[in-house]
Amino acid sequence: MTDLAQPALNPALQTEGSAAVPPPFWLLAELTYRCPLHCAFCYNPLDYTDHSRELTTAQWIDVLREARALGAVQLGFSGGEPLVRDDVEVLVEEAHKLGFYTNLITSGVGLTDKRLDDLKAAGLDHIQLSFQDSTQELNDFLSSTRTFDLKQRVATAIKQRGFPMVLNCVLHRYNLPHVDKIIDMALAMGAEYLELANTQYYGWAHVNEAQLLPTREQLEEAEAVVERYRRTHGERCKIFFVVPDYFETRPKRCMNGWGAVFLGVAPDGAALPCHAARGLPGLTLPNVKEMPLREIWYESDAFNSFRGLSWMKEPCRSCDEKERDLGGCRCQAYMLTGDAANADPVCDKSPFHETVVKMVQRAASASASASAMPAAATVAREQPILFRNDFNSRKLATAAREPDVTGGSGDSGAKP
Ligand code: SF4
Ligand code: SF4
Repeated sequence: MTDLAQPALNPALQTEGSAAVPPPFWLLAELTYRCPLHCAFCYNPLDYTDHSRELTTAQWIDVLREARALGAVQLGFSGGEPLVRDDVEVLVEEAHKLGFYTNLITSGVGLTDKRLDDLKAAGLDHIQLSFQDSTQELNDFLSSTRTFDLKQRVATAIKQRGFPMVLNCVLHRYNLPHVDKIIDMALAMGAEYLELANTQYYGWAHVNEAQLLPTREQLEEAEAVVERYRRTHGERCKIFFVVPDYFETRPKRCMNGWGAVFLGVAPDGAALPCHAARGLPGLTLPNVKEMPLREIWYESDAFNSFRGLSWMKEPCRSCDEKERDLGGCRCQAYMLTGDAANADPVCDKSPFHETVVKMVQRAASASASASAMPAAATVAREQPILFRNDFNSRKLATAAREPDVTGGSGDSGAKP
C-alpha cells in the first residue's frame, strides 16, 4: 500500500510505456451496495448481491491514500447508500486531511442532524441529494419507499449547515412532464445546483428501459422548460440537463475516455474504469486488495483494454471523428451489440444503429398509449417495473449464471 508521505505522482515518475497516460482526476468510492431504496433506474450492477463483501475502514483509507498519491483530487462517496456504513465520517476526515474535495452522494436516508454535524466537522465539502420526483406519489413509487417527506427535511437540514447542495433527479418518461415543478422544488430548497440526469440505460434502468424511455417530444419540451428557467433563475441555481444519447446520431465521449480521468472502486474493492464496467464479460477487474492502485491504473489489462484508440474496430478505426467521441460507450456497445469493441450503436455509422432507432420508436408508441402523468397505481398495472432489491438481484444473478433456470422469463433484460 502507498506511503502517505509520498507526493502526488509526477508524470515523470510514471512507469515506462505509460508516460502518455494522465493520472486519475476523480475517485468514486462506492462504499456499499446496501441501500434502503429500490430505484427502478439504479445504476448498480444487477448481480450486486454477489459482490456484497465490503472493504473495511482501514482498506478504504488505504484506497484514499493511494488515489491521492496518484494525483486524484475529486472524491465522491457513493453506493448504494453510503450512510448505511457508520465510518463515513472517519473516511471524510481522512480524505479532507489528504486534500481531496469531497462530495457525499446520498438518498438522504440516514442523514440525521448528528451525522450532518459530524460530517461538517470532518470537513465534508459538498452534498448531492437525490429526489425521484417533485411529487410524493411518484417519488415514493419509483424508489419503492416512503422517503419524500424525509428528503425534504434533509434538504432543509443540509442548507441550515451551509453545505453547497446539488439536487439530483433522474429523468424518464414519468417525471419529464414535471420538470418545471422539480426546478421549483430545487429553487425553494436553496440548491445551488440541479442535476436533471436523464436516465442512462445501464444496470436496472437497462432492464426497465421499455418502461422508462421517454419520447423525443417529452425531452424537447423539458429542455425548453429548462432553458426558460435558466434565463430567469440561472443566477440562483445552475441547472444541468443532459439528453440521453439514444436520441442522437453520435455517441457521448463516455467517461471522457476509458482510463482517462475516472477511477471507481466498488464495495468489494474491484476497480472500475467506468460505473458499469462490471457488466462487461471477459474484463477481469483488478482488486485493490490484491494490487496497488498505481499498478491498477497504469498497468492492468482492464484499464488498458479500451484506452486510447488502438482497440478500435471498423467503422471507428478509420473514422475521422474518432478523436472526438472515442467510439462512444463500451458498455452500451456491449449491451446492444454483444461486443464491447464495436462502435457505440448510438452512432448512425454503426451497423447496429437500427437497434437504437427501434428502441426510440417503441418508446414513442408505448407513450402514445399511456397517460402523460400516470398515477403510480396505473404505472404498476400497465408498466410492470423491476425494482432494485435483493430478491430481484439474486434472481437475476442466478439467471445469468444458469440461463435455463429462468425458464426464459425475460426478467433479466440481459440483452446480448
Ligand atoms: S439509485 Fe436508488 S436504489 Fe440505487 S443506490 Fe441510488 S438511492 Fe439506492
Ligand atoms: S464510427 Fe465510431 S468514431 Fe466514428 S463517429 Fe461513430 S462512434 Fe465515433
